[in-house]
Amino acid sequence: MKLCNQCILPETFPGIKFDDNGICNHCRRADSSSTDSAEQKAGYRENLDKLIESVKSTAPSYDVIIAYSGGKDSSYTLKLLRERYDLKILALTFDNHFVSPVAWQNIRTMTDVLEADHITFKLPWPSAKVIFSKTAQEDIFPVPTLLRASSICTACIGMVKSLTLKTALEMSIPMAAFGWSPGQAPIQSAIMKTNPSLTAQNQASLKKAFSSEIIKGINQYFIPESYYEIYKDRFPYNIHPLAFFDYDEGEVIRQIQALGWKEPKDTDTNSSNCLLNAFANQCHIKRHGFHPYVWEIANMVRQGVMGREEGIEKIYAEQNQDMINYAKEKLGL
Ligand SMILES: [Zn+2]
Repeated sequence: MKLCNQCILPETFPGIKFDDNGICNHCRRADSSSTDSAEQKAGYRENLDKLIESVKSTAPSYDVIIAYSGGKDSSYTLKLLRERYDLKILALTFDNHFVSPVAWQNIRTMTDVLEADHITFKLPWPSAKVIFSKTAQEDIFPVPTLLRASSICTACIGMVKSLTLKTALEMSIPMAAFGWSPGQAPIQSAIMKTNPSLTAQNQASLKKAFSSEIIKGINQYFIPESYYEIYKDRFPYNIHPLAFFDYDEGEVIRQIQALGWKEPKDTDTNSSNCLLNAFANQCHIKRHGFHPYVWEIANMVRQGVMGREEGIEKIYAEQNQDMINYAKEKLGL
């Protein structure tokens, strides 16, 4: 398969065009719009310092809620928030029934070492089974989401984001943190006050994608209409600090390992917590002809935070068949 010579996006990626040097349109656009990224990142770090200074004393319970999967990126984000800013942290883990046992152990270890309170939100297995079987077999979300993630991941992350925001509103927590890697979300959205009307729109489109049978089981995860009025002054800042702090995967792992985090051996190359991911990837590759993580990893290669060879290894290695079988059997597919 032909790949972009710079960023590893494949010829099967929708809308891709290569120039005579084999460089894709996304790389060309990034080159022409590039600003001084070190300076830009420093500006965001300063803005986060200021934001934290302004909210820290106002929070009645926690300064920040973090969507915490126990994976390397959210563990590193937790470390950063605790060690650099000394925040009062509530970590929320969404139990999708596929969290690796090693990830659970990491969650216990890291929330102890970094002194964060922790809650788990587990959806009942019948709901999980219906949602993941459906999204394994069908794309239920709008096309743009398919370029960036598998349907299974989009469903799961949608619930995580919604629950995190809902909990922040209910507990009056002024910031909601996510461990998105520098390739997952653009720096421009890395510190942003949650916009209620945009949230309402996103929630409506997520709910529209799920069937009414599914919604019956998970309606309580979404923001009720009344919250937009009652809590209109409480909408938190969304932050994803890894977009503007130095990011090197090896270094991230070394630093959290020093605190007792262990690398799971039972997950695929693109996840350090989820046992469903390899199957989710395979379903997506079969239907669309490209890997659902290729956009994220290509961004990281383009930004220079990951080597090209390492990116190719992560994306173009075969999915682990044992893991695929494990998830398929559990879902009864
Ligand atoms: Zn490219």
